[in-house]
Amino acid sequence: MMLLKKTPSVLLIYTGGTIGMMQNSETGALESFNFDHLQQYVPELKRFNCKISTYQFNPPIDSSDMEPALWAKLVRIIDYNYENYDGFVVLHGTDTMAYTASALSFMLENLCKPVIFTGSQLPIGMLRTDGKENLITAIEIAAAHHSDGKPMVPEVAIYFQHRLMRGNRTTKAHAENFNAFNSFNYPALANVGVHINYDFDHIHKPDYSLKLKPHFLFDTNVIVLSMFPGIQENIIDRVLHVPELKAVVMRTFGSGNAPQKEWLVRRLSEATERGIVIVNISQCLSGAVEMGRYETSLHLAEAGVISGYDSTVESAITKLMFLLGHGLSPQEVRYRMTQPMAGEITKP
Ligand code: ASP
Repeated sequence: MMLLKKTPSVLLIYTGGTIGMMQNSETGALESFNFDHLQQYVPELKRFNCKISTYQFNPPIDSSDMEPALWAKLVRIIDYNYENYDGFVVLHGTDTMAYTASALSFMLENLCKPVIFTGSQLPIGMLRTDGKENLITAIEIAAAHHSDGKPMVPEVAIYFQHRLMRGNRTTKAHAENFNAFNSFNYPALANVGVHINYDFDHIHKPDYSLKLKPHFLFDTNVIVLSMFPGIQENIIDRVLHVPELKAVVMRTFGSGNAPQKEWLVRRLSEATERGIVIVNISQCLSGAVEMGRYETSLHLAEAGVISGYDSTVESAITKLMFLLGHGLSPQEVRYRMTQPMAGEITKP
């Protein structure tokens, strides 16, 4: 008997962002267009050996307006359509794409299918757009599977300018260049040239016997606090005493260092005792926090600050919101922040 090969199917979810905008010829401003007209701008979509359905956010969201309720909406769409599609492509504004991709990597527990984010720096209708290649290759990756039918990339990833990167390892690093994203601390999952070269050693290997478990809860009582020379005690004190505050991503210098002020260690220590979770993330984009390497970070460890290792800020803040949203105690949140949940940190 001849086995008929199933045509792969991809659900394309358009949330908003530059990729789906076009220039108003009168005002020059970028405006969102109806995504049903996608085919008109990308006729190449008809040539795919793949069924493509679309879903669009109405109204489309500039990614600066993304928030946990919209992450939950995305998860609901993926969960609802999970059995009907081989992969998902999420078109998203680039500004906060790394936050959404990080959040979804935690929200989609036991994910066994590709969820590929992409967008563009120039709208898809523009002659020099980067959106076409991003979109076409993202669809190809979302539909790609091994000969046994298993997907090539069963995880949340961002595809941008010839590189596929793990979503929760990615940061928007350029406002101008076409290669807007970088994954500083984890190798690309695929490099795209004439061929798509997947790096299977670094692509997540899921347990296919587990069922997708979607999560929706977030607690947003968190803040990112960046250290700088001259930082004031009264300001830090106020921030750490905001009544609802539950967690802080503290962006420190170099390998995780902060000023050696007695008051700083005392204030952080008091905050930890009040149950506030403080995670140490370096301001450097590449490399990891090494608590205790210098005396300056040893004091932070003594104050109860925990290492965020080589996490991105985007991943650390969304993971904190996710864990707190699930009602975990500060001790549990502290512990889980030091354990990889979706490949977001590498422990030494
Ligand atoms: N402001 C846009 C957004 O993030 C920029 C983009 O799409 O690149 O939605």
